[in-house]
Amino acid sequence: MKSKAGKRPLMPADLLAQLEETARGALQDIEESADSEDLATKRTEVLGRGGVLNQALKHLAELPQPERGDVGRRANEVKATLEKAFAARREALETSLLEMQLRQEALDVTLPGRPPVRGRIHPANQTLRQILRIWAEMGFQVYRSREVETDELNFGLLNMPPYHPARDQWDTFYTTNPQVLLRTHTSPGQIHVMRERAPQPIRVVLPGMCYRYEQVTARSEIQFNQVEGLAVGRRITFADLKGTLTAFARRLFGAQVATRFRAAHFPFTEPSAEMDVECFVCGGVGCPVCKGTGWLEVLGSGMVHPTVLNNGGYDPAQFSGFAFGMGPERLTMLKHRIEDIRYFWSNDLRFLEQF
Ligand SMILES: [Zn+2]
Repeated sequence: MKSKAGKRPLMPADLLAQLEETARGALQDIEESADSEDLATKRTEVLGRGGVLNQALKHLAELPQPERGDVGRRANEVKATLEKAFAARREALETSLLEMQLRQEALDVTLPGRPPVRGRIHPANQTLRQILRIWAEMGFQVYRSREVETDELNFGLLNMPPYHPARDQWDTFYTTNPQVLLRTHTSPGQIHVMRERAPQPIRVVLPGMCYRYEQVTARSEIQFNQVEGLAVGRRITFADLKGTLTAFARRLFGAQVATRFRAAHFPFTEPSAEMDVECFVCGGVGCPVCKGTGWLEVLGSGMVHPTVLNNGGYDPAQFSGFAFGMGPERLTMLKHRIEDIRYFWSNDLRFLEQF
């Protein structure tokens, strides 16, 4: 080719034809380029220092002057056209890429959201609230009292003087002051509320945390909730106690539930009784939950001891009353067949999330 071209003098028409041919090919390439990277490579191949356009004009200097000017002008036009075409194509490619990304990464507002993890009421507190709701419906106010008590209020004024053997059942945690301790039951609240309200009639429930210095086992914890109840007034009898507690049991366990009272002993009530409900697991037939008896013990109760009434500021000759106490954790265990009381305060989410 070279020797052939060398024999024939270069004509402007040849260069112009070559120029047009290069431009056509380049425009075709621009149109077919798949992405901006591909386009950038092609741009170097066409418009770069060693690109095809410069190659096509390699022999421009060999032309005589006037024709050289014409071809040069045309070459600049071609170059400008190609520059424009490259720029337009690059913009088109970038726009379509953006559109594709927007399509692919689009936020689908119809998808369900990720729900935040919600806390819930602790199972012991769920039962506690249920118990308090029932007593509130029956006209009992919630009366809160302190967890740190004096020996006198926790034991002495509740008919358990220092030498009383019942104290052995309720060992507790003492502070550096031997007369100040963590309460073993909510019963000191009875003294607080009586001394505050005497001689007015009383209908209260006293919920709260209690403490015992005991070995921790599946059946006993060193801390637990208790709900105590107290009714004081004139002519309150044991029949009121039975009727009120039976009404409570029916509201908690169902209208058909049978109850029974067994004689018991507590230092601060006389007479005392424990109330059982018919086992709601087996319906009274006998099962492992009720240990085959058909009955579940749910609370302790009794008529307020005259000494306790007196300590609270009520004359036992004119006033009488009844008291009762139950454990929300124990009731929750019965209800859900929980076999270990330690689950309540061990903060294991696998346990807590079931309620
Ligand atoms: Zn049973």
